[in-house]
Amino acid sequence: MIWLDFSMFLMLAVLFLYVFSSSTVTVLHRIYLLLHVVFIMWPLFQFASQTTSETSYRLLYLSASYLGLSLLGIGWFVFILFLTGQSYVIRKSRLFVLSIPALISVTVVCWNPNGMFLTINDKLEPLKQLQHGPLFWIMIGQLLLYLSVSLVILIYKMRRKDESARQRKMVRTALIGLFMLAFFAFADLFVNIYFIAHFARYIPLISVGLASTATYIVNAISRNRVFDIIQIVQRDVVNTMSTGILVMDENDIILEVNKVMKPILRLRIGDFFQPAALAAQFKDDTAKQLLALFEAQRSRPMERLEVELNMEINPIRHAVVQSAPILDGKKRIIGRVLTFQDVTELRMLVEETNTQNELLQQRNSELLLMQDELYQANKKLEHMAITDGLTGCYNRRYLLQQLEAEIVANIRYGIPFSLFIFDLDHFKTINDRFGHLTGDEVLCSTVDAVRSVLRLTDVLSRFGGEEFTVYLPHTNKEQAELIAEQVKMTVEQNKVPSGVGEGTISVTISMGVISIDRFDISNLNDPKSYLRELMAQADAALYEAKYNGRNRIVKSKLA
Ligand code: GH3
Ligand code: MG
Ligand code: MG
Repeated sequence: MIWLDFSMFLMLAVLFLYVFSSSTVTVLHRIYLLLHVVFIMWPLFQFASQTTSETSYRLLYLSASYLGLSLLGIGWFVFILFLTGQSYVIRKSRLFVLSIPALISVTVVCWNPNGMFLTINDKLEPLKQLQHGPLFWIMIGQLLLYLSVSLVILIYKMRRKDESARQRKMVRTALIGLFMLAFFAFADLFVNIYFIAHFARYIPLISVGLASTATYIVNAISRNRVFDIIQIVQRDVVNTMSTGILVMDENDIILEVNKVMKPILRLRIGDFFQPAALAAQFKDDTAKQLLALFEAQRSRPMERLEVELNMEINPIRHAVVQSAPILDGKKRIIGRVLTFQDVTELRMLVEETNTQNELLQQRNSELLLMQDELYQANKKLEHMAITDGLTGCYNRRYLLQQLEAEIVANIRYGIPFSLFIFDLDHFKTINDRFGHLTGDEVLCSTVDAVRSVLRLTDVLSRFGGEEFTVYLPHTNKEQAELIAEQVKMTVEQNKVPSGVGEGTISVTISMGVISIDRFDISNLNDPKSYLRELMAQADAALYEAKYNGRNRIVKSKLA
């Protein structure tokens, strides 16, 4: 029988290596492996105890095997807790309480006070040498206790209708394993302790039971994929996500809190989810928002709700909290999932973009303003470039430019036009008598008077000093003479305050007039010199007017 123990040990060791070397090792796998080590202890030390006839060694080896048996109950219990998803029961605070029976049993086995657990009487015949004292039943008792609690959990799980098929298969496997274990343990108790005399030999039933149970479970692991790899991957994904995830069942018991969420919200699996307690971890406004979300979820359980929190943690953090129901195939709510996503960087990016946009808009409007100012300045410059600063009429340059273009059109289409050149008579005397400033005023006033007679289309320009030119488009000789007369008369009648008492100044003008109503196409070849010629003629007429006594109009003879 000694070799049966040893071979069972070997078998368990091989199974251990097999499970250990499989790559998909989860927490559940590890827990099972620990249990498996406990499984191994019994046959190993039972075997060892039979390799020696030394009583003290035998006692040591047997104690070690009972140590393994002491740990079997709690090992199995923990395995069942993990298997059925009740692992939250094993919190540090509860761990001690849960392990008290096992600890007592271990103490009893190791201490063995006065041989009250186990003694070996080597004077008796071999099969009667092992004598179990009253403390032996403490070990059996705790074993039974753990196994019974495990059984209750498994039956409870088995009866629940909403468990998945996979979960049911796992529970069934554990249940069958438990029955196998119990069967062999009781068989051993009867065969090797009660009826040892009847069988007249030691039969290692516990070893066989442990090996059978382990074989059954390992087979279930590998064949039925009891500890599914998909679940492992899902868990890994959930734990590496940056989004916080909290899953709870229909009774608000927390089933899952992923790694990101744990330190932030101080929630634990198995806790009853209390919105108020969660909200209390935040400042006033945030807490209110959170509570409002949970309240809304309660009144509209089928909806997916969302709220964005601005948490006043320094610096401010933004988080989007979503609450959504989890539905089964029949659209019944079986739980809820809460997700917490830190969107601070996103918000900061949006804010940054908005600020940049505002800045851009501001720059844009500034640019538009500058553009407008520039346009106005340009207009002013343009105006300044073509007008005379003192009198406000066009300057010589503008007139010549304009005339050149106009003359070409006039000749081509045979449109009559006229030109005046007039000069203020004895203006020097006015300057001398009344001063330059008054002279300036006389100049401006005369220009105003002339302008009042002219038509809108006529172009009045200061040709230099107190000499002016007028271009009269679409104006024949008769019309030109009439207008010239009116101009002369208006100037003559115009009175400018002299600045000395009530006195006024009156000036006269001498004018040369030229009207073109016959056109020579050849002039189109050099409109500039033609214009020069026309001006010279008008100037000659003016000169004649001066020569003939001033305050008169002379029509150009050549025209
Ligand atoms: P007339 O033309 O009848 O022969 O005599 P006049 O006294 O007008 O003679 P002249 O044309 O030679 O003199 C022009 C004077 O006009 C000389 C100059 O001092 C004056 N003058 C020219 N431009 C301005 C000006 O912008 N303001 C003032 N106050 N005087 C000017
Ligand atoms: Mg003059
Ligand atoms: Mg002059």
